[in-house]
Amino acid sequence: FERKKILVLGAGYAGLSTVTRLQKILSFQDADITLINKNEYHYEATWLHQVAAGTIHWEEAAYPITSVINTQKVRFVPAEVTAIDRDAQRVETNQGEFEYDILVVALGFESETFGIEGMDEYAETITNPETSVAARQEIERNFAKYKTSNDPRDISILVGGAGFTGVEFLGELTESIPALASQYNINYEDVKITCVEAAPSMLPMFSDELTQYAVDFLESKGIEFKIGTPIVAANEKGFVVKVNDEETQLEASSVIWTAGVRGNSLMEESFEGAKRGRVITKPDLTIEGYDNIFVIGDVAAVMNGEGENARPWPTTAQIAMQMGDHAAKNIKEKLDGEKMHGFSFDDKGTVCSLGPDEGIGVVFGREVKGRRAAFLKRVVDTRAVFKIGGPFLAYSKGKFL
Ligand code: FAD
Repeated sequence: FERKKILVLGAGYAGLSTVTRLQKILSFQDADITLINKNEYHYEATWLHQVAAGTIHWEEAAYPITSVINTQKVRFVPAEVTAIDRDAQRVETNQGEFEYDILVVALGFESETFGIEGMDEYAETITNPETSVAARQEIERNFAKYKTSNDPRDISILVGGAGFTGVEFLGELTESIPALASQYNINYEDVKITCVEAAPSMLPMFSDELTQYAVDFLESKGIEFKIGTPIVAANEKGFVVKVNDEETQLEASSVIWTAGVRGNSLMEESFEGAKRGRVITKPDLTIEGYDNIFVIGDVAAVMNGEGENARPWPTTAQIAMQMGDHAAKNIKEKLDGEKMHGFSFDDKGTVCSLGPDEGIGVVFGREVKGRRAAFLKRVVDTRAVFKIGGPFLAYSKGKFL
C-alpha cells in the first residue's frame, strides 16, 4: 500500500485552509502531504492596506506557517514554484522538483495594471508584504523630503482606483497621515490625498446609500475623489488622466495603484486557457481532463450559475478559505473511492473598513455602517485567523481592540 503524494502550492487563505483541513481528516498512513510556499510565513492579504498605510507593521499581519501545520503529517518546503508539468505530474521550484499524485494549486493574486503606460514602473501596489511596505516607505520618505524641498508634491498622494482595496487604503490613510504629518511638523491641511477612478461609480458591491456614506466620510477627512476619470499613464510626476479627450497631469510624489488584481502569472504558463491568471474549474474544483488537479482561491474561476448566465465568483479571501476546505474534503472522498461533491459558496457578507472606527458592509444580508461595521470587520479578520490557526493564533493575532 502506497501513501498518495498530495502537493499543495501556496500558503495563502486557500492553500492553508486545504492543508489545515487535510491534517485533521487524513491520517499519516493515508497520504504524504507537502506544502510549498515562497516565504516561511503566511500573510493576511486582507490586512495589507493597513501595512501600506502604516497603521500596522507587516509582521502583525504575518505568522510562521509551521505554527499552524502539524509537522508530523505535513512537510513544509519554503520554495518558489517555477513550473507545473501536468502530464509528468511534477512541479519545478527553485529548490528542486516535486512529484505528486494529487495537486492543489493555490498560488494567489498579483497586481494588474492593464497595460497602462508607466504604471508598473512608477506606482507602488498593495500586493504582498514587500510591495505594501514599499508603499508606506515611499509616503514617509516623501514627507521627510518635504522638510527641505517645501515642494507640495512631496505631501501629495495619488491613489489609483476606488474599488474595495482603494477605499480601505484611503480609510487607513485618514488614520495614519495626520500622525505622520504631525511627526514631521507638517500641517495636515496642506496634505493632499486624491483618489482617481475610471468608472463612473465606485464600490459596485454596495448600495448607493452605503457607498455615499463611505464617500462622505472620506471627504470629511479631506480626501478628494475624481470619479469617471481614466488614468492613461503614470510617470515620475504622477498620473496622466483623460477627461473629455483632454489629457491632464496630476502631480504627486507618492503614487499607489490599487485598481487591479489578477491570478498568478504562472497559471498562463502552465495551463492553456488561463485568462488573467485564472483557470476555469469544474464544480468539484478540479480542472477539465485532470481530476487529480484542484485549482482554488484567486487563481480559480469557479462558475456561479449555468450556461450563458454563468459568471465566475468574485475572488475573495472568504471564498478562497471555503474552497480550500472543500478541496480537502473532496481529496478525502477521492482517496476513499467516493464521489466528490460540487462547491457552493456560503456568502456571509462583506465589510469594507474606513480606518479603525468606521466602515460599511452587508453582513448576513443586512446593511451595516459606522462603528458597528468597524467592529464587525475586526470580527471577520479575527475569524479568518481562528479558522486556520485555532484559538491560540486568534489570541495572538486577533483584533480585539
Ligand atoms: P493569496 O492570499 O494571494 O496567497 C497566495 C500564496 O501563494 C502566498 O502566500 C504567496 O506568497 C504564495 N505564492 C505566490 N506565488 C508563489 C510561487 N511562485 N511559489 C510559491 N509560493 C507562491 N477578500 C475578502 O474576502 N474580504 C476582504 O475584506 C478583503 N480585503 C482585501 C484587502 C486588500 C488590501 C487586498 C489586497 C485583498 C483583499 N481581499 C479581501 C482579497 C483577498 O485577499 C484574496 O482574495 C485572497 O488573498 C486570495 O487568497 P489565495 O489563498 O487565493 O491567495
